[in-house]
Amino acid sequence: MSGLGVNRDYLKKRNRGLALKLVATKQCTSRIELSKEMGLTKTAISAIVGELIDRKYLVETEKEITKDQGRNPVGLEIAAASPRYAGVLIQRGYAEAILCDLSLKSFKYEKVEREWQSEQELMSTVTRLLDHMLENEENVAGIGVSSIGPVDVKAGIIKNPGYFNGIKNVEITAPLRERFSLPVYFDHDNQSAAMAEQLFGNGHGYQDILLVGIGRGVGCGIILGGKRCHSKFGYPPEIGHMSINNCGNTCICGNVGCLETYIASNVIEEKVRLATGKQMNYRDFCQREEEPEIRKIMEEMVWNLSSAIVSLVNILNFQIVLLGMDSVYWPERYVRMLEEIINERKFIRNEGTRTLVRKVAFLERTPVLGAACNALNKTFDGDLLN
Ligand SMILES: [Zn+2]
Repeated sequence: MSGLGVNRDYLKKRNRGLALKLVATKQCTSRIELSKEMGLTKTAISAIVGELIDRKYLVETEKEITKDQGRNPVGLEIAAASPRYAGVLIQRGYAEAILCDLSLKSFKYEKVEREWQSEQELMSTVTRLLDHMLENEENVAGIGVSSIGPVDVKAGIIKNPGYFNGIKNVEITAPLRERFSLPVYFDHDNQSAAMAEQLFGNGHGYQDILLVGIGRGVGCGIILGGKRCHSKFGYPPEIGHMSINNCGNTCICGNVGCLETYIASNVIEEKVRLATGKQMNYRDFCQREEEPEIRKIMEEMVWNLSSAIVSLVNILNFQIVLLGMDSVYWPERYVRMLEEIINERKFIRNEGTRTLVRKVAFLERTPVLGAACNALNKTFDGDLLN
């Protein structure tokens, strides 16, 4: 009998989490819509919603008045008094933090730019950012952290990222949990960003999503069948070290022809400098693509990236490819160009199987929102509900 009780509690939490997810992501705005979407009776939905209102997760709203209806239909939305979630993003050269609610509405944001010289410097900055996010907040449910890879998600550790001043094996989850007495959830930066886009952004409604994040490294997030792809070893997928030329450039990883040796932001910035004699950052030269030298470099970059993506699309049949980090600055015509090349060259080209290419919806904010989603999604799973 006790086993049945555990199952019932588990199901109850799952259903409450799912109802919150559907309202927070605006898939459902009323009890009737929840009933249809979740396949539960109106009575069962009313019980779930009633409890979520009592616990201050949801509030009722008046939907638009229609003349023909006897009374105004009652809507549902995330309550102003609902819990908040802190997110911290760890990158080369900067860290960012955000505080938001279940619908990803943000209340605080802060960024610190610094080339990390030591683990202590990095962690004291992360702690200070979290202090600022949590200051005067009485209802914070959890902390989400995301970081450049490689990371060991299960152990909650940043392993040994390249170009990271030798900083390695940084414990994240355990010390933050102890310091803040809150649940802490950790994942890879692009995996987290892919989840934020799947829940709230341009990945919404898609099951199979590839997110590519171009920076000083080139990373990816993969969602398959609606779920984040994680290996048994705890390592997330990597695209930057996929070779696109077996006689190519030597990479820090020991392989040759790795994608990131061709299209990482600093590599492209250097190509632009050599071609134009001018030092420009990624965002700046993306705005000057009418210059022939820059246009040539960008087209070559799109071709190089397409080699890797076509191979991945052939293996995993992504519905949509989302471009993140520095590639949010691309002029739209390169986004279209990449989509055209992928669909001309991929193996399955039947009607209805077009692979879309879009920029991430939250642009520069996507990665830090992804960090927050690592915690927020635990509420949607039913694991982090009070
Ligand atoms: Zn490599």
